[in-house]
Amino acid sequence: MSVLVSDLLVIGGGPAGLSAAMTFSRLKRTCILYDSGLYRNQGVKHSHTIAGFENESPSDFRFKMRQDLTKYYSNTFTFKLGKIIELKKLDNGLFEALDDEKNKINAKKVVLATGLKDHMPDIKGVQEQWGKRIIHCIFCHGTETANAPFGFLLTKNNSQMNPKLVESMLKLWRSLDHTDKYILTNGMDVETEQGRKDAGLEEKYDLVKKLGYNIISTPIESMAENSSETALEIKFTDGKSIEIPAMLLFPEKFTATEDSLPILTEGLLGDKLSPFGTISPPNTDLGVSGFPPRMGDDPRTNVKGLFWAGNSGSFVANVTVSLAQGQTAAVFAGDQLGEEDMLKL
Ligand SMILES: Cc1cc2nc3c(=O)[nH]c(=O)nc-3n(C[C@H](O)[C@H](O)[C@H](O)COP(=O)(O)OP(=O)(O)OC[C@H]3O[C@@H](n4cnc5c(N)ncnc54)[C@H](O)[C@@H]3O)c2cc1C
Repeated sequence: MSVLVSDLLVIGGGPAGLSAAMTFSRLKRTCILYDSGLYRNQGVKHSHTIAGFENESPSDFRFKMRQDLTKYYSNTFTFKLGKIIELKKLDNGLFEALDDEKNKINAKKVVLATGLKDHMPDIKGVQEQWGKRIIHCIFCHGTETANAPFGFLLTKNNSQMNPKLVESMLKLWRSLDHTDKYILTNGMDVETEQGRKDAGLEEKYDLVKKLGYNIISTPIESMAENSSETALEIKFTDGKSIEIPAMLLFPEKFTATEDSLPILTEGLLGDKLSPFGTISPPNTDLGVSGFPPRMGDDPRTNVKGLFWAGNSGSFVANVTVSLAQGQTAAVFAGDQLGEEDMLKL
């Protein structure tokens, strides 16, 4: 067992954590970053809307950021592939962490850039296709689906979010000129008022029918990529099936990840995580429920010296926003350290 000492400990090596480490390293202060490597966009081959990296692989993007950190800041920056399993604030104001090899880390400040977990509907094949033929965001992966058949999956467990998905379908997705448009309700019977309500179609039912969407209410049995690897084959319980190149769904739930849950405790944060699994803001009436989501202008938590960045505090943050949030967290951490040092002069 060894004891590592650092000005800043960053937990998480996705875009948010790497950006925090990069910005903090500019101060020539010491920074250790731990990354357990379970990224939210794990299965994704191409990312979009990242300036200078359009259509590149997210793992290449992280690799380049790590490479830059070691190339330019190795005097003060240390990268650790591993997991932080315990984190607490001591009475002397320092943070004490323990990694999965039982090494101790003492840090003056900590940035939590631990990401988020998306929970899929319990339909065979959905999890495997997440980030491949099943997507959640037009800006991330929608454009590539244009001028071809496309589906929108609404599920009962998502009845609160379904009206938002329907709204987004009508406001944003129509400009992609999908040839055949399917709305799949997985058993919610849109012939009934309750079914339309659960599916988020209550007010828009007549409109979507007029616009030519094919609504299929039959429960889904399974889905998988077809044998020619050109489309998603969706099988229904009545024996029928359709093939569409891609489909949209909103995750049914967000939570902290397996690796972050043990450290994002009420004992550490002084507050519960929001219903979206995100770190709650400090003493403010804005966003305590997790909605509206935070965009990163305030990276503080309830605990002095403990900051958040990326999806750990904002479930809507994409890569660009996570980079900005990481930078803001590092600036706040550096500023706090500088102020504490100044008071000792
Ligand atoms: C299917 C899909 C496609 C997407 N496509 C795009 C796109 O095209 N463009 C775009 O801008 N955004 C896209 N996004 C969003 C993007 O993935 C997120 O915005 C981004 O990953 C958030 O970065 P992050 O650093 O907060 O979290 P992550 O990238 O998830 O990184 C968090 C890291 O923290 C680590 N960690 C957690 N707990 C611990 C611990 N205790 N110890 C050590 N490490 C820990 C995790 O293992 C992980 O490596 C997509 C998301 C999904 C789900």
